[in-house]
Amino acid sequence: MVCKEHVAFRMTLSGKTVSVHDTSGLDQVRKRLKLDPGIIRQVRAALLRSFLGEAKALQSVPFDVRHGFAAAVRLHELTPVERRDSRTDGATKLVYRTSDGHRIESVILRIQSGRSSLCVSSQTGCPGGCRFCATGRIKGGRNLTSAEVLDQVVQAGGILAAEGRRLRNVVLMGMGEPLLNEDAVYSALAALQGKDGFNLSGRHLLVSTLGIPDAIRRLTAQFPQVGLAISLHSARQTVRDDLMPLARRWPLGELRQAILEANTCQDREVMIEILMLAGVTDTEADQTALVGWLTGLRVHVNLIPYNSVGDIVFKDAPLRGSPNVRIQAMQEALKAAAFKVTRRRSLGSDIGAACGQLGGNEN
Ligand code: SAH
Ligand code: SF4
Repeated sequence: MVCKEHVAFRMTLSGKTVSVHDTSGLDQVRKRLKLDPGIIRQVRAALLRSFLGEAKALQSVPFDVRHGFAAAVRLHELTPVERRDSRTDGATKLVYRTSDGHRIESVILRIQSGRSSLCVSSQTGCPGGCRFCATGRIKGGRNLTSAEVLDQVVQAGGILAAEGRRLRNVVLMGMGEPLLNEDAVYSALAALQGKDGFNLSGRHLLVSTLGIPDAIRRLTAQFPQVGLAISLHSARQTVRDDLMPLARRWPLGELRQAILEANTCQDREVMIEILMLAGVTDTEADQTALVGWLTGLRVHVNLIPYNSVGDIVFKDAPLRGSPNVRIQAMQEALKAAAFKVTRRRSLGSDIGAACGQLGGNEN
């Protein structure tokens, strides 16, 4: 009962409230309500670390000011609108609406018991415009705030906690290009790693980017422990330019230099993502170009099977995923050159939750 009242109360004041992720705003509310700092720590720990949900988090606040607190502080930013559970693997797609009406998605990946990952969005669409990606077709998107990024973690963490699972990895690999939203992404990463925040290890966080050299330098300098994944896809400049229109701004030579520098400030390998597209990124010329480009870098290559996002014509031919033998051939060429290489197991394709499908409406 108390909980419902709180929700209604808060809704009437929306716009004037502060987010639970805004630590300085929260401190002002605390002072106004004459609350002990320990109470705020308990609310945040219940919500962000134990993922106990709104009602339990509010129980830490003394009853006489609970109403006032709930009216002043937003514990959530996003409204859940849909949940789809895969029938074939452990993926769950979560769809939310932002307060200004954008639709965004996160994906829970239950890989093994006790080892769950969450893929979160950083923008409501993506200006990247990559030819193979559904998110890249969404027009009029915007950056998410750090609180909106973090609420995806809070809500999914709650779902997993209710199943007795623990959220371990958070990857910024959902909708959008994280390094076009640096401020919000960096403050979200700080909160995810923070002792007074989610207290996740930086080693269990990963940012995937289309490859913006200066932003890569800033990210790795500020968060050396956080994993970096580069959506390279092709080491041939013209092929990459055609597949990833926005990435033309940052030529392959500059990107390679930034990865070389990242290697010096990180003690983990940079992940290089290669989308395996038949006749486009899987030929012998691609193998040669990739091995040459990667030589001298400390990397782990991840070969990604293509997930269909509808009929796409690329250079007068339908865009298709590589057959198994071509993926195998690429894997062997990389192994022969002594690179670590893995194939990504794609989860959630039956619910439109696999890489590249987020924000698409055909699934
Ligand atoms: N914008 C960032 C992060 C989001 S995209 C980036 O591009 O890295 C996350 C990953 O999904 C990227 O590696 C991207 O290349 C990949 N991806 C996009 N469309 C895909 C598709 N149709 N099939 C498989 N992977 C895809
Ligand atoms: Fe944007 Fe990444 Fe999709 Fe390209 S692959 S359009 S950068 S989300």
